[in-house]
Amino acid sequence: MTIEPVKISDAEWEVMRVLWTLNSATAHEIAAILGDKMDWKLATVKTLLGRLSKKEVIRSESEGKRFIYYPNVSEKATVRSATENLFSHICAQKIGMTIADLVNEAQLTATDIAAINTALAAKTPVENIACNCIPGQCECSQHQVKINH
Ligand SMILES: [Zn+2]
Ligand SMILES: [Zn+2]
Repeated sequence: MTIEPVKISDAEWEVMRVLWTLNSATAHEIAAILGDKMDWKLATVKTLLGRLSKKEVIRSESEGKRFIYYPNVSEKATVRSATENLFSHICAQKIGMTIADLVNEAQLTATDIAAINTALAAKTPVENIACNCIPGQCECSQHQVKINH
């Protein structure tokens, strides 16, 4: 299961969030919503929609003279793909501590904390995590320079 994650820029995420919320929208509708928040003109939104269409994460259907845009991917799957992409950039051995950092920094409701606790309680610890770095990228015991005299 090695599907290349779709890379969505910060600006493109803003457009995707509108489409996920509304299920479908025209460029004008998106510009009306994001115009104030992002200080974007209609042309900016159209550019972003063009890029997202190229990446096939959205599709458009023409209705008369206007185009209506639809998300092709779910919010959950896209967020998960972005998280996996983030984790693919760090050593497998550091993911646990990174998650702990994320928890420390996040604002969480009682419901969130309960969900995290449930996930943790269901987790079976492993003895060892293999480093997936190449020498020079990390300092794990496997990659430390061994001097055998
Ligand atoms: Zn490593
Ligand atoms: Zn290593």
